[in-house]
Amino acid sequence: MKLLTPTLGLILFLLASPASAVVKVFACEPEWKALVETLGGEYVKASSATTAFQDPHYIEARPSLIAKTRRADLIVCTGAELEVGWLPLLLRQSGNSAIQKNELGYFLAADQVERIEVPENLDRSQGDLHASGNPHVHWGPYRLLTIAKALSDRLQKLDAKHVAQYRQRYQAFATKWKKQISKWESQAAELKGKKVIVYHKNWSYLLNWLGIEMVGNLEPKPGLPPTSAHLANLLELTRSTEISYIMTTNFQNDKGARWLSEKTDIPILSLPYTVGGDKKASDLISLYDGVISALTNYQ
Ligand SMILES: [Zn+2]
Repeated sequence: MKLLTPTLGLILFLLASPASAVVKVFACEPEWKALVETLGGEYVKASSATTAFQDPHYIEARPSLIAKTRRADLIVCTGAELEVGWLPLLLRQSGNSAIQKNELGYFLAADQVERIEVPENLDRSQGDLHASGNPHVHWGPYRLLTIAKALSDRLQKLDAKHVAQYRQRYQAFATKWKKQISKWESQAAELKGKKVIVYHKNWSYLLNWLGIEMVGNLEPKPGLPPTSAHLANLLELTRSTEISYIMTTNFQNDKGARWLSEKTDIPILSLPYTVGGDKKASDLISLYDGVISALTNYQ
């Protein structure tokens, strides 16, 4: 009988543990779900409002998402107006005071870092989706590290019982990530000075980091689909400038990109935008690995 006691004790302990033992996280995008899971491990339970095959600029505030925000202890979103079309509505409908702006349960990644491409003269009538600067911050590896530190600090505040574990997890991530940064930087050194066209400015942080020049966008302004006049201008540009590739991702309409590629023989690189965007991109490190390898292999 004595041998059974510890097992029974464990069962009773598990039954007695309240469900709130884990921090329930509502992530807006897969990259933040991946990051919070890396930093929180077994102490968090996260879901993502969007998949890697959806453009996070355009999501509907569906009832199933509202239900998830109702139960969340923490929301982790990009901010910088990326989710302006749907997150405010979700927050209002959630009836959850813990995840409202300025509360501990409200965390925006883009607020933790300096943003690039902040428009000098903002004209919303032009449909500029990046009114608060470029929100696609998970493609800046140093920024991602800053965000990870702030997110870990937030988890420590929300779940003080596991401060030591969160710290240890952050340290492990930071060490690994920094090692990866040097690896990626040497791998991509040969890409410096290359010129590319992108569909949308969702690669800007990556390109800035690697010293690749973005010389054109298929969108005349972030969020506006390519017009034939705009495509004609891009075609003209390719006559005077050597372009290595056109970068798109799976949720972007590739019609304009294909047209330009057929006219010019510039290859299209369709890359995973975030975690889950292809088979290999199972976490942030494999996502970066895959994209940087694709860029370097396509010389
Ligand atoms: Zn965007």
